[in-house]
Amino acid sequence: MSKAMYPGSFDPITYGHMDIIERSSKMFEEVFVAVMVNDEKNPLFTTEERVDMIRKTVGHLPNVKVVASPGLTVDFARSLDVNVLIRGIRAVMDYEYELQQSTINMMLAPDIETVFLLSKPDYSFLSSSAARTVAKYHGDLQRFVPEYVACKLEEKMK
Ligand code: ADP
Repeated sequence: MSKAMYPGSFDPITYGHMDIIERSSKMFEEVFVAVMVNDEKNPLFTTEERVDMIRKTVGHLPNVKVVASPGLTVDFARSLDVNVLIRGIRAVMDYEYELQQSTINMMLAPDIETVFLLSKPDYSFLSSSAARTVAKYHGDLQRFVPEYVACKLEEKMK
């Protein structure tokens, strides 16, 4: 059975992430969206809140499961018997970081491949941090995140 994992911070999930999840769900029989808990980052949303927002957003895709874990992505992937990681690339600026991450993962786990999906042009400007900034200054979030996530962002910024 073909399985893949889409790891990330998802702080919060955006339309760009959603697009990658939808496209991945057509390529693999099972897709785990993995909220990776990273002590070095100081997220706006708790892990539980991020998982909840993803579940509400991609609940219509029956072969997508939302999970969370601390530690190394490759260890989590192995524990779920997954050997494909999915990452999204928006523009050249993502390339260097993604190259570094996937090379480290390759060194740690040569049996796990990273597959890159290019962002749709509509979403190539979109990031969680842009959505957080727009929310902070009470801007219109309509083109960034689904309504449920926009409400959660607005609540956080109150
Ligand atoms: P991380 O902290 O691991 O980079 P993110 O939640 O920021 O977590 O991103 C997870 C993955 O989704 C990364 O591969 C990132 O490049 C990709 N991604 C983020 N936003 C978009 C977007 N708008 N379009 C396509 N891919 C995206």
